[in-house]
Amino acid sequence: MKKILLIEDEYAMADAISDALDFHGFAVTHADSAEEGEDLLGKEAFDLILLDVMLPGRDGFDMLHAIRARGITIPVIMLTARGEEVDKVVGLEIGADDYVTKPFSNRELVARIKAHLRRTSNDQVPQEFTFGDIRVDFLTHKVFCRDEPVNLTSTEFAILKLLIRQRPEVVSRERILNEIWGYTFCPDSRMVDTHILNIRKKVESDPHNPDFIKTYHGVGYRFLG
Ligand code: CA
Repeated sequence: MKKILLIEDEYAMADAISDALDFHGFAVTHADSAEEGEDLLGKEAFDLILLDVMLPGRDGFDMLHAIRARGITIPVIMLTARGEEVDKVVGLEIGADDYVTKPFSNRELVARIKAHLRRTSNDQVPQEFTFGDIRVDFLTHKVFCRDEPVNLTSTEFAILKLLIRQRPEVVSRERILNEIWGYTFCPDSRMVDTHILNIRKKVESDPHNPDFIKTYHGVGYRFLG
């Protein structure tokens, strides 16, 4: 049974989400603040986090920043209210995997959760790949730069793996959205672009002039090397 940590301060919303996920066979643990959520993450292993952006005290972004800094790489889906569009890029930049905007249907939320869990559990390939100073271990999902660990989130890892697997083919944004997030339409191309930027910052020696992850303008990205 997959374990989901739900961090949401509105009890009615938290109850509705917990019931729906319980019905679909997930084990949900609810925390009503960032502090309680972080405390739980220190005690238990979870498969995915649903993180409300607007929380009393420390907000969702602050918590996201803190957990990524701790090296926790499991998928994080942010829950936002309508009108918080501006905040989306900020969240993606600090390591969110996806967004769901309230009010959302249970069906949509479950689809998003399943897409992320499927991707993180089913894509084991027993091999290694090296480029430049970077070594990617597909078995342990770890990345190293001259033997120093590089912390990629699970989504960043999956995108890098997709580009390496398809090299030197150009992989379109639509295909990345579909394979990584399960989208069949493009909700926001910045989802992909921001993740690519984050990956470049971690694996390219000059992220603004990348040697390996190249932009193919108007289409998508390709891995060369
Ligand atoms: Ca809230």
